[in-house]
Amino acid sequence: MIKVEREFLNILSEKHYNDFFIANNNSHLLNELYRNEKNPDKKSFYYDIIDNIHDIITGAPTRLRELIEYLFGRHERIMYAFTFYNIEKKSISIDIRNINRRIATAKKNIIKYSHAKDTQKLYSVKLVVETIKKYQKLKYAEDLKKHRMVAEEIINDFSEIFNYEAFTSQPKHAWGAYTLANELQVNVCPYCNRQYTHTFVGEEGGSMRPQFDHFFAKSIYPFFSISFFNLIPSCYICNSSFKSDKDFYLEEHINPYEEGFDDKVKFSVQFLKGSKTKIDYVSLWFTPHSEVFRLRLIDSYNDKDFSKRAKGSIKTFHLEEIYEQCHSDYVSELLIKSREYNEDAIDFLMLAFRDLFVRREDVIRLVTNNFVALNDLGKRPLAKLTRDITREFGIQ
Ligand SMILES: [Zn+2]
Repeated sequence: MIKVEREFLNILSEKHYNDFFIANNNSHLLNELYRNEKNPDKKSFYYDIIDNIHDIITGAPTRLRELIEYLFGRHERIMYAFTFYNIEKKSISIDIRNINRRIATAKKNIIKYSHAKDTQKLYSVKLVVETIKKYQKLKYAEDLKKHRMVAEEIINDFSEIFNYEAFTSQPKHAWGAYTLANELQVNVCPYCNRQYTHTFVGEEGGSMRPQFDHFFAKSIYPFFSISFFNLIPSCYICNSSFKSDKDFYLEEHINPYEEGFDDKVKFSVQFLKGSKTKIDYVSLWFTPHSEVFRLRLIDSYNDKDFSKRAKGSIKTFHLEEIYEQCHSDYVSELLIKSREYNEDAIDFLMLAFRDLFVRREDVIRLVTNNFVALNDLGKRPLAKLTRDITREFGIQ
């Protein structure tokens, strides 16, 4: 989890507001929506959206969180509807199908068992009782259906105004997903620090860019669909396979525009046999890594709230499991290098090649083929892992 640190983010967010939101007439459309709305609840909700529109599009992550709280405070029913629409949309339809099936079975069985033995009668009665219970659930499901309707109506109303698809399909010269990605130059996924996410636009077609993860899922917070700080440049795996539409408001996570793991959460090697001071280097070459060590992410920062967010991110993006499963070979090589390049060796290289190296980090970069300075971790995949392990094992 690497912090995306850029000096010009606020300038870019203003540009995003003017060159995309305003330039595409969305402000006007939003005002129209408000004017034409007859339902007082929705009208009042749209009023608050208009009232906060600049912050909605350009607000920093903490401001977006405040806005969610503000809107929940004033429009509980609508906000609740979005949440339910997202969480329950699948389970409701499954529930209703099950209930109908149970009712049909119960009816059949009551007829079937009406002249049968007592035990079978009892079975029928049990089924009926169960059916009544399910009926109650059905009523609950009906209530949820109403929530869904409200959510669907508003999502539909917003579809032209907070239009993420329009943002991703802007022509090359206009402000859209490619221009934003190109300005940001986030070349490694900040969530996992494993995948390159360069932006490239081929002159004769063919192009690539990072995906933009909606930190606050656009299915739950449709009014944040094109909010600058809600668009996290990230890799396909983190965005599509792991994050999906998880609610990062209810379950807090690290927002890379706000903070990173830095040195608060660190990769650490835990040997299954032996210890850090008595490493069996031969086994690092020839024994499967899973039999030699475990790779863990250790939170040594004493802050409850941060820990909660860090835990959320580690879990959602499967960071510990994936690093251990996929990058233990890389860790083994770093451990072997730690024998070659201890502190004295780094001192020697610094002195011997004064013209090549300005900082100790530059020597370590050359030795490990990766960046290790805190501000450089977003420049190459596995840089965070490299920093933590080299420091843990004395390459510093
Ligand atoms: Zn990623």
